[in-house]
Amino acid sequence: MERPTQQQASPAGDAPSPAGDATRALNGHRDGAARKPEVGAPSSAVVDGWREERTRSVEDNEMSLPSIAAAYTTILRGLGEDPQRQGLLKTPWRAATAMQFFTKGYQEKIIDVLNDAIFDEDHDEMVIVKDIDMFSMCEHHLVPIFGRVHIGYLPNKRVLGLSKLARIVEIYSRRLQVQERLTKQIAVAITEALQPAGVGVVIEATHMCMVMRGVQKMNSKTVTSTMLGVFREDPKTRDEFLTLIRS
Ligand SMILES: [Zn+2]
Repeated sequence: MERPTQQQASPAGDAPSPAGDATRALNGHRDGAARKPEVGAPSSAVVDGWREERTRSVEDNEMSLPSIAAAYTTILRGLGEDPQRQGLLKTPWRAATAMQFFTKGYQEKIIDVLNDAIFDEDHDEMVIVKDIDMFSMCEHHLVPIFGRVHIGYLPNKRVLGLSKLARIVEIYSRRLQVQERLTKQIAVAITEALQPAGVGVVIEATHMCMVMRGVQKMNSKTVTSTMLGVFREDPKTRDEFLTLIRS
């Protein structure tokens, strides 16, 4: 899904520098998902993720639908419901189809999105796309995470079609996720594709597993950020990005 986005340009930051990386979680997930910030290059697992083969096809969906639906029938029974009552007759199939949709990011590869969308451009000012709607699924509880993603990068002769930033968000968010990994995967994909001077990604999200159970904090939001390159090394560039996404 691609929603209207805002973009803003501003004076460029300092010269390119080696990519560093910082991920921090504020008010993190309460189930131990918060990770220690990693220093240095992005982990190979995350980088490999960008080049991964898609793990599911449309044919796979058709093949697995009956077994997923059967599993939902078992779940309904286990919850004390009667899967045969009128209102629930089609629920296992609907739920299975919905779950496949919620995880359709497994059917896509980042590299397909990037093909034909990278342009040589002598643009060296910060590009920001903010308020990208994001819907994901917590991999610990299989309930929704939803919120907004803000992306900024400082190009180094290459730019990406603006709508593609939202597509990258879509592909990684429509998988089972933890917010910290989602944030990092988006930043690493942009870094790999464009070799920019720097990238910043901030995600503000609500975790239904926190809102509906556990601490039951209705309005708690989890904020994660990944800063690479000059966004990490140059406080001025980072502050400019953070100011622009809040304006
Ligand atoms: Zn959860």
